[in-house]
Amino acid sequence: MDFGLKGKTALVCASSAGLGRGCAEALAGEGVNLVINGRTEETLEATAADLRARFGVEVTAVAADVTTEEGRAKLLEAAGEADILVNNAGGPPPGTWTDWEREDFIKALDANMLTPIALIKAMVPGMMERGWGRVVNITSRAVKAPIPALGLSNSARAGLTGYVAGTSRQIARSGVTMNNLLPGMHDTDRVKKLDQNAADTQGISFDEARKKRLAGSVMGRDGTAEEFGAACAFLCSKQAAFITGQNILADGGEVNATL
Ligand code: NAD
Repeated sequence: MDFGLKGKTALVCASSAGLGRGCAEALAGEGVNLVINGRTEETLEATAADLRARFGVEVTAVAADVTTEEGRAKLLEAAGEADILVNNAGGPPPGTWTDWEREDFIKALDANMLTPIALIKAMVPGMMERGWGRVVNITSRAVKAPIPALGLSNSARAGLTGYVAGTSRQIARSGVTMNNLLPGMHDTDRVKKLDQNAADTQGISFDEARKKRLAGSVMGRDGTAEEFGAACAFLCSKQAAFITGQNILADGGEVNATL
């Protein structure tokens, strides 16, 4: 299927590794030129070189923290009149509800709610003027089914979800769609770290810890960044023009709900 994206440009935030990189790769595979981003110059440049070599698209690498105003300014300058915005950043740390103070909430809201909103506000008006655009926000399955230890994430992402629900409808006649993609467990560095922590705490090997976790999962495996990226590319496609304001789970059926 031709997604009709050849020659378009996408800003994909937090994309030097993990799910953001999966999205960048899938878009590059559709002929989309990219502005990619990460905080570590070396990793980011390696990703950029790999994407250029494999897909022959233009890749601009911007080393910056997307959750800072300065970082976003650098990204927006590089993105210019980009057609696609994929919002992503690292998630807030785990903890217990009694630990979280105002400052912790402010940090989480800044990173996972107000950062994507700032980029949407900066980029969507241009997309609307040009009559075409796509916004995909990487959120979490925690939006549909809370993960108690991730209360900061549950809260901030719920805020973004509410904003997207209303805003996507306000802009719906312009040719710009806006959706959230909700990952469940995917085999990224972040999940590798979680399994390593479980292994260390329980005094078992990494493989044993992973096997134990997956034994209780619906599909018996984690998702891959490639699968996640493909879902993102579809939401950006011309074929997905009638899909907006939605929360699409990519979680292997883990959220146990009929609707
Ligand atoms: P990851 O840690 O594997 O990769 C994150 C990438 O983003 C890295 O390249 C990192 O350098 C970059 N990055 C992180 N924070 C950044 C920032 N502030 N500015 C610029 N670059 C930044 O993470 P991931 O597993 O790909 O997860 C991506 C998002 O999806 C996170 O918000 C995470 O909480 C959420 N999520 C992931 C999973 C999963 O299973 N992997 C599940 C649910 C939700």
